[in-house]
Amino acid sequence: MPDWHNVPMRKTLIKNISLPEADEWFASAGEKPYRGRQLFNWMYERNTASFHDMTNFSKELRQRLDDEFLLTPLVLEERIISKVDGSEKYLFRTMDECYIESVLIKSNTGGDNERLTLCVSSQIGCRMGCAFCSTARMGFVRNLETAEILEQLAQVRRITGLKNNNIVFMGMGEPLLNYDNVIKAADIMNYSFGFHISVRKITISTCGIGKGIERFIDEGRQYNLAISLNDTEPEKRRVNMPVEKKYPFADIAAMLERKMPSSRNRLTVEYVMRRDNISRDDAARLKKLFRRSRIKLNLIPLNSNGNGESPNTDEIESFLNELAIMNVPVSVRASAGSDICGACGQLAGKRSEAVII
Ligand code: SAH
Repeated sequence: MPDWHNVPMRKTLIKNISLPEADEWFASAGEKPYRGRQLFNWMYERNTASFHDMTNFSKELRQRLDDEFLLTPLVLEERIISKVDGSEKYLFRTMDECYIESVLIKSNTGGDNERLTLCVSSQIGCRMGCAFCSTARMGFVRNLETAEILEQLAQVRRITGLKNNNIVFMGMGEPLLNYDNVIKAADIMNYSFGFHISVRKITISTCGIGKGIERFIDEGRQYNLAISLNDTEPEKRRVNMPVEKKYPFADIAAMLERKMPSSRNRLTVEYVMRRDNISRDDAARLKKLFRRSRIKLNLIPLNSNGNGESPNTDEIESFLNELAIMNVPVSVRASAGSDICGACGQLAGKRSEAVII
């Protein structure tokens, strides 16, 4: 684990290991093969916070696990609940004293149905440099370990008693630049001996890392994929999203056109609405993109953080009208938790003033 210098006693993060690796460890410890599965049951299904609570292991075995492994690699520093929409922002401290954030988003899907979505971080900071995003301003520190990604879900579930929720990799960082750890975490979230969340409820969002998207499709990954477009003109996109220079969106669209028909992925294109990217011409250019019906367009009003102007409701309304006239299917995501700086583009790994845990 190259990035993991400061862990006390250099323990291995146990949530980094797969079930076969766990089986191997138990075999080398002279234990029965089913112990690996029991361990996964404790760690994920029962979401246990201490090796000492794993009561079907002998005392010696529990001690040995505790000596060798670290079960909870994040410390919860803050939990803030939005007064506006009940969303919750969690600030975690890593073992090397960095901060990451996760946001639990509550959205009503009609009637009594409330959909809960946990937005998890995949990196500490981000190196993509998108002009409108706060995470970009903190720069890049390092990739998160698989265990640190899983731990965000484990702790939020433990605190809230949550059992069933969607997952979006839309927190801090660019998931496809931490491909291996992100996919391993998603697999354990999905795994029946893990958190057992359906592939359809897990979404990985990328600013458009062409190489990662291609690998994701070629490997037959079934998770939902979201790509952040945010501008319809390449020249403008290059300024707002420097990733356009290395991976032009047009190339990604062509690659998807070639490969998506044979894959089962569902694709969402995200579009953060600013005052200057929602003209009639923008709508017309989006229409061209949406000839393929399996793509869904998800519009997000810009949460202004000093860079870019948010459109007002009339401007959004008229953009939606243009798109409706052109028959482009859209959904609008009201960004949750803006009063707690938990909304899209506002995660900066900072402590707030009011601490409510
Ligand atoms: N790096 C990934 C995931 C993190 S960003 C990606 O780019 O997709 C998650 C979403 O928040 C992206 O769609 C991004 O375009 C959007 N976003 C970033 N800053 C925003 C802001 N200030 N207001 C609204 N959405 C924003």
